[in-house]
Order: sequence, then structure tokens, then C-alpha cells
Amino acid sequence: MVVETNERPATQTPQFSMELNDEQRQIQKWIHGFAKDVVRPAAHEWDEREETPWPIIQEAAKIGLYSFEFLQNAFADPTGLTMPIANEELFWGDAGIGLSIFGSTLCVAGIVANGTPEQIVEWVPQCFGTPDKVQMGAFGVSEPDAGSDVSSLKSRAVYDEAKDEWVLNGTKTWITNGGIADVHVLVLSVDPELNSRGHAAFVVPPGTPGLSQGQKFKKHGIRASHTAEVVLDNVRVPGRCLLGGKEKLDARLARAREGKSSKVQAAMATFEATRPAVGAQAVGIARAAYEFALDYAKERKQFGRAIIENQAIAFKLADMKTRLDASRLLVWRAAWMGKNGKPFENGEGSMSKLFAGESAVWVTEQAIQIMGGYGYVRENPVERWHRDSKIYTIFEGTSEIQRLVISRAISGIHIK
Ligand SMILES: Cc1cc2nc3c(=O)[nH]c(=O)nc-3n(C[C@H](O)[C@H](O)[C@H](O)COP(=O)(O)OP(=O)(O)OC[C@H]3O[C@@H](n4cnc5c(N)ncnc54)[C@H](O)[C@@H]3O)c2cc1C
Repeated sequence: MVVETNERPATQTPQFSMELNDEQRQIQKWIHGFAKDVVRPAAHEWDEREETPWPIIQEAAKIGLYSFEFLQNAFADPTGLTMPIANEELFWGDAGIGLSIFGSTLCVAGIVANGTPEQIVEWVPQCFGTPDKVQMGAFGVSEPDAGSDVSSLKSRAVYDEAKDEWVLNGTKTWITNGGIADVHVLVLSVDPELNSRGHAAFVVPPGTPGLSQGQKFKKHGIRASHTAEVVLDNVRVPGRCLLGGKEKLDARLARAREGKSSKVQAAMATFEATRPAVGAQAVGIARAAYEFALDYAKERKQFGRAIIENQAIAFKLADMKTRLDASRLLVWRAAWMGKNGKPFENGEGSMSKLFAGESAVWVTEQAIQIMGGYGYVRENPVERWHRDSKIYTIFEGTSEIQRLVISRAISGIHIK
């Protein structure tokens, strides 16, 4: 006979919880402290200077936040939530500085997604260096004529068999940390006839001749983060710099030439892994603006009462908080799915980045509206947060491209 009971057996731990565990909460608190005490006070200065905030990166290295060990720890979290939590807290402090600190992780993701264990061990630590000699990584796919359409890369990698070297030529554009990074991971075409299936990712080691920085861009937002062209002029790298190795590449190219299916391409493998973390960055910016506007709305008096006492303002804040929390939940779901090997059958990774990015733009704009003229001037951080948020509808796949991914996933139809 089966006895029905509501009591859970004492030995069984709950399989589902919406609560962070102690370790996650500690990391959240630790990074929040750094964001509040070090990052946020420096944000205005570095936004105005439009330069890489090296002293702040060094501070992050000294406390161990900017390090291989931190990433290893974060990636080891079986729930997948540590990276989104870390990103949200740091970007709550400032997005431009945040991207200067976490920008190298895109390069790390490129190495981890495409490289062999030996390559990961060799190159990932070099993306950070040491607190005394901070290093950086950059990940470059985009080109002047290949943005959303990654399949149309023009940069070429040609194998020189006699020397076991690859010769790289072309121009990458919009590259975060481009030209100032020590380690560049670049996706180039090895067989243009195969479009994106003929791409491969290469590490360009520090100081390699022929790699130079082209134009440095002056931007609308995230101005403390360096964005530039990377020019490749007969750059020679050893054969071991091809991520994944030549044997694997040859096998993949052979399958593609026979028209057989293959796994995701080099660029896509990287972006799939990083989308939830990028969504979490947008959540951090939105949360900063929401909190600031909430405080202001309680303080600011017009017509003899706090402006929050008007439904028009209070309802805005209610909508801001709702979108903020919905964004975070989408991000956490995608991060958990990614970590636990659940396929994004409905484009869940794209959903998280799409909704969090669009919501951040909307929330920061509402924050300006709530603050009136005070929200529109540069002395006030909501003006900067609004500018910073906009990139989240553009990089790592525009909002339109995310919608393309989602609509194809849910319909099974190749929507154009
Ligand atoms: C600050 C910054 C940092 C960046 N960092 C990096 C980096 O580190 N590494 C890197 O590789 N790249 C980086 N990028 C590049 C970024 O990923 C691209 O800008 C982005 O992918 C869009 O490409 P695009 O700018 O060429 O726009 P386009 O692809 O030309 O798109 C223009 C418009 O057309 C729309 N569109 C295009 N195709 C379609 C379609 N099929 N259906 C509907 N709409 C479409 C787009 O959504 C967009 O609205 C960065 C960009 C910026 C601005």
C-alpha cells in the first residue's frame, strides 16, 4: 500500500530552489563591494577620458577578481549562476570599466570553446597576466563587411606546410581590447568556399609581428572600454596556434566538403557560451538605474508631494522592476541550461540577451524621465547608464539577430 504524505524524506535534498547558495551570495557581496567602493566612484572620470582604466583593472587583479583562478572557480559552479551574478554586480558599478575587466573573458570563451586542453592551459592564464603585470585578451570576428553576417569573413588564414605556420591577413573591426590585448583570438576563413563552415579560430601570441591596431573608435557609451580595428599584415603564427588543432580542422573541412553536418562554427560556439553573461551585464546597468530612480522619486517633491506618490511615476518604477527581474530570470535560466548541457531548443540563450538588452535601454530611459532635467546631464549617472545600455542591443548579436535565432528555433523554419 502506498502511504501519501506531504513530508519530504529527511535524506532527500530539494532539487529546485530559487535561492542562491552561501558561496554565490559571498561572491555577490564581494564583487558588489568592489563595484561600490572602487568601480562606481571612478566611472565618470574614465567615461570622460575614454581610455582603458588600467589602475582599476590592476585593483581587480590584486583582489583576485581579474584572474584565471576566479574564472576557473566561477565556471566550476554546477548551477552556472556565478558568472551572471559576477557580471551583474560588476556592471552595476560601471559598464565601461566592467567591460575592461571582463572583456578578456570573451577571449577566454573563444579559447575554451574551440581549443584543446593543452591550448586552454597555455593561453588562458596569459589573458590575465599577474597583478604586477596585467595582461589582456581580445576576441575578434567582426569585419568591415561581416557584422551580423559572420559567414562573409574576408580575412584569410593560409597554411605554410613547410614551416608548419599559418599566415594571417585581413582587418577585424569593433574589437574590444583590439590591438592593446596581449592575446588575440581571431576567427578567419581557411576555405572561403565553405562560408562559415570554413572558419577557424587562431591565437595570435603577444608581440607577434604584423598585428597592429587600426582606428580606435570614439563611442556613444561604454567609453572606458577600448574598441578598435585589428590589422593583420602577413602575421605568421606557429601551427599550434590553430585552436582545436589541424587534424580536427581537416576532418571538419572534409565533412563540410562532402556536405555532411558538423558542429557549430568557431564564432558561434563562443557567442552561445557568453550570451547569458552578456545579458547579466545589461541587468546590472538596468538595476543601477532603477535603484537610483527609485530613491530619487521618493526624495523629489513637486506640487507638495514626492513624485513617487503619482501613479504615473510609481507605475513606471513597478514596470522597471518587473522587467529587471524578468531579465534576470531569463539570464539565470539560460546560464543554468548552458552549464547543464541542456540544448537551447527555443533559443533560450538569445532570449536572455535580447530581453535583458532591450529592457536595459528601456529601464535607463525611464530613469532619465523620472529624474527630468537632472537625469539628462552628464553629472548624473543615469545619463551614462542610458548611453552604456544601448550596446546591449548591438554587440554579441544584434536584437534582430537574436529574434532570428529564436524564431528559427521555435518554428523550425529558416526565417530570413
Ligand atoms: C562597442 C562594440 C564592441 C564590439 N566588440 C566586439 C568584439 O570584441 N569582437 C567582435 O568580433 N565584434 C565586436 N563588436 C561587433 C558587433 O558584434 C557587431 O557590431 C554586430 O555583430 C553587428 O554588426 P554590424 O555592426 O556590422 O551591423 P550589421 O550586421 O551591418 O547590421 C546593421 C543592422 O541590420 C540589421 N540586420 C542585419 N542582418 C539582418 C537580418 N538578417 N535580419 C534582420 N536584421 C538584420 C542588424 O540587426 C542591424 O540593426 C563590437 C561592436 C561594438 C559597437
